[in-house]
Amino acid sequence: MTILEPLAGTVPAEWEKFDDRFDGIRGDQHLERLWTGGRWVEGPVYSPAGRYLLWSDIPNDRILRWDETSYQVSAFRAPAGNTNGHTLDQQGRLVSCEHGNRRVTRTEHNGRISVLADNYEGHRFNSPNDVVVKRDGSIWFTDPSYGISSDYEGYKGEIETEGCHVYRVSADGGLTRVADDFDGPNGIAFSPDESLIYITDTERAHMRVFTVEGDRISGGEVFAECGNGAFDGIRIDTVGRVWASAADGVHVYHPDGTLLGKLLVPETVSNLTFGGAKRNRLFITATTSVYSLFTTVNGAAQPYDPHV
Ligand code: MG
Repeated sequence: MTILEPLAGTVPAEWEKFDDRFDGIRGDQHLERLWTGGRWVEGPVYSPAGRYLLWSDIPNDRILRWDETSYQVSAFRAPAGNTNGHTLDQQGRLVSCEHGNRRVTRTEHNGRISVLADNYEGHRFNSPNDVVVKRDGSIWFTDPSYGISSDYEGYKGEIETEGCHVYRVSADGGLTRVADDFDGPNGIAFSPDESLIYITDTERAHMRVFTVEGDRISGGEVFAECGNGAFDGIRIDTVGRVWASAADGVHVYHPDGTLLGKLLVPETVSNLTFGGAKRNRLFITATTSVYSLFTTVNGAAQPYDPHV
């Protein structure tokens, strides 16, 4: 078998409950392993129109695609600039963080790749990691140094921006730094109404929550401490619960910060996303593999879509 063939297989889905409000949050009794053979996979993004999942296999410098209709996996782009996180904008265009090129790009409908941001005041970013699009068309991304600390996930290089920060690109292309007090900003997601933004700090193994007011954020108190490993990517469901990646699986938090429960995963989880036509299928990237299961909840549409 070649490395691109899907590996059929399932493992039991183990749900661990810590709070009664986790009752009813369940799904398939098994996790499907859709594919394995990666080195460190991240950045899952589901295309409702294309009915496929894309993700990054960062050290192998490729983006892979799983076809929902056939379960087949193929290379979508390789080399890929050591991409990490992806998202779709309101037009369904792919927005990608590239470690290798130290930039955030958009893949246009004609296939051309546009650079959305590659420097702050003339200084190159470190290695953009994860990205989200707000309903006003602005693009928010984190810029830790994991892609330049060695050649493993990009190219070894120096920090030029005096740290690891969070940035926003407005719909008209203006760039601002929205937070400068992180050690390792990583996963980033808005609450369903976009009044809040959650950002993980992998170096501090916690997640913070900010109030969003237009193009600015304030607050930033610690929302949750990761009890197993460190948080990476996060997603929000339709009622505002936060689904966070951790070493032992996916941790689910009530909006009040309570850890409601966990979905245990056999490998260290890097990222997750809700997909499928109803956004009730959870896709999980975890070290070498991609897992999925159908759940009883639905992921929030991001960017916000008044029609769903
Ligand atoms: Mg990440």
